[in-house]
Amino acid sequence: MTPTLETKDLTKFVRDIPDFPKKGIAFKDITPLLKDPGAFRSAIDAFAARYEGRGIRLVAGIESRGFLLASAVALRLGAGVIPIRKKGKLPHKTLSASYDLEYGTDSVEIHADAAARGDKVLLIDDVIATGGTARAACELIEKLGAEVAGVAFLIELSFLKGREKLGSREIFALIGY
Ligand code: AMP
Repeated sequence: MTPTLETKDLTKFVRDIPDFPKKGIAFKDITPLLKDPGAFRSAIDAFAARYEGRGIRLVAGIESRGFLLASAVALRLGAGVIPIRKKGKLPHKTLSASYDLEYGTDSVEIHADAAARGDKVLLIDDVIATGGTARAACELIEKLGAEVAGVAFLIELSFLKGREKLGSREIFALIGY
């Protein structure tokens, strides 16, 4: 087995791409972390260690990099995995929630039968920036009557204060900038 890395060393596997997808954005590219077996396992281990034993029944991933993390964490927790997707991508009956962008709004959707009252759901995404996407995703889970038992990210861009949008929900990030 590949040796596990310290969480602090994971920053070495995150690459900054300036001006992507548009000018002025420093994009945090996690593909080096995903392709390194030790780094990927360390990240998944850290999430699993934090949430195991907490009765998590479902792990929700936000499209699309959130899916890669959510499914691995779900397997480790013995939980199921549910997708939260951009508008128009889910085939069955959906609920949607919108959030503000710099210009205009966007929305995310969840299947109406993805979770039910009493389910404890862990929400995962790669990056929290302004927090709008994660807040909309939490609202969807809660509209289904389920409980957001935690919100976890690989990376938090703290200077954007996204966690303030998530209110009293429990937030965890492996790497902060
Ligand atoms: P926000 O709603 O502003 O918190 O944006 C979060 C969503 O946008 C996540 O799904 C991220 O994958 C993506 N995102 C926002 N900013 C960045 C960034 N600087 N680098 C990589 N992904 C980002």
